[in-house]
Amino acid sequence: MGAYEDIKTRVENDGVEYIYAMFVEMHGRACAKLVPVEALEGLMANGAGFAGFASGPMGQDPSSPDMICIPDPSTYTQLPWQPNVAAMQCDPTVEGVRWPYAPRIILRNALDKLAERDLVMKTGVEAEYSLVVKNNDGSIAVADERDVDVLPCYDAKGLTRMLPHLTDVSKNLNAMGWGNYANDHEDANGQFEQNWQYADAMTTADRLILFRLMIHTMAQRDGRYATFMPKPFANKAGNGLHAHISLWSTADEPLFIGGDEPDPKGLGLSEMAYHFAGGLIAHATSLVAVACPIVNSYKRMGVGAPTSGATWAPAYAAFGGNNRTQMIRVPEPDRLEVRLGDGAANPYLMFAAMLACGMDGIDNQTDPGEVNTANLFTLPAAEVAARGIVTLPPTLMHAADNLVTNDVIAAGLGDTATGPYSHYFAETKRAEFLAHHHEVTAGEIDQYLTLF
Ligand SMILES: [Mg+2]
Repeated sequence: MGAYEDIKTRVENDGVEYIYAMFVEMHGRACAKLVPVEALEGLMANGAGFAGFASGPMGQDPSSPDMICIPDPSTYTQLPWQPNVAAMQCDPTVEGVRWPYAPRIILRNALDKLAERDLVMKTGVEAEYSLVVKNNDGSIAVADERDVDVLPCYDAKGLTRMLPHLTDVSKNLNAMGWGNYANDHEDANGQFEQNWQYADAMTTADRLILFRLMIHTMAQRDGRYATFMPKPFANKAGNGLHAHISLWSTADEPLFIGGDEPDPKGLGLSEMAYHFAGGLIAHATSLVAVACPIVNSYKRMGVGAPTSGATWAPAYAAFGGNNRTQMIRVPEPDRLEVRLGDGAANPYLMFAAMLACGMDGIDNQTDPGEVNTANLFTLPAAEVAARGIVTLPPTLMHAADNLVTNDVIAAGLGDTATGPYSHYFAETKRAEFLAHHHEVTAGEIDQYLTLF
């Protein structure tokens, strides 16, 4: 059966009336056209056309030819929260060629290259988000006005007050077959995390985009806003996107679990996993531009603790065992938990960049360094530096400046007609930084108005 016939059958069986033909731009914003099933045959044969420039940074200007998004039938998903609609992620093309500025194409190309080495990347993500309301003056407040504890993490009362939202999300995750296994109140007031099973990297990236869309939709239903913004409140922990990463053979054998080889670091990982971690550490100061890609990202990081006592975000490029103050944690000897990314990360770009760094570590047998057991949130900076641990950049501008010097990530994200995509990304981010830098903030007025 061809792709069209297959999807037509599923649409009929599911009672679906409309399809979201979806793609994301550089920021990972979910973009879609709503296509009635009467037009399914044309969608499957010819794709959906978009003016790429209008969607965001996609390497197009208003004079550019159409971006034609070809549905990937393997991603067909009926949306349980609006069951007359199904979503399909699409691969953007321009004039018949995979568009090298499209994040899903960038990850697809990276995974194709990995497959040539008989390897598969699997990932899981911990998508943290906050539920807020807007005040009349435009500022935001935690949606649940009773959620004011200094240490709200895992609070059963806070969980209970949000039960209708959380259980609906859980049921939706399971209806889509993603395997929801935990839901919790996180470290900040109004902050939650809902977990589903890991999968191949493309599937996880596609699911994260749909997850964010679902959370926004359901928050709006209840009169709230959901935000994945890395630091919505200056005095509360921010929204992370921890990524659990492992490599597997194409025959589905896990390759990060240690075997008979010597394991001087004692964490039970394979040499391949240690070297992958080494690559992530070696390129961390550039990788962070992709994993923490907005101005606000850099207000979540560092060692300055919010009211709950810890940022839970890495300040340094460091490797440890089961230690949440490290950039890379090893919770169990089968995967790496990379704690660098935040809620603004585009998962396609982040996975492609992390893969490039990790594979470079494998190819160069890079050592991730000693296993850190210290609490890096409290260890004095001089002591951290004395251990040879590198500090992550303080702003998006510093990170973007690092990224343009990094040839490994440039190769991993691929080339466009005008140069590496990573340079285009860095230029976009520099402009984003400067646009915010041009603002005069309330804090500047407070500090400087009458100081001189
Ligand atoms: Mg968490």
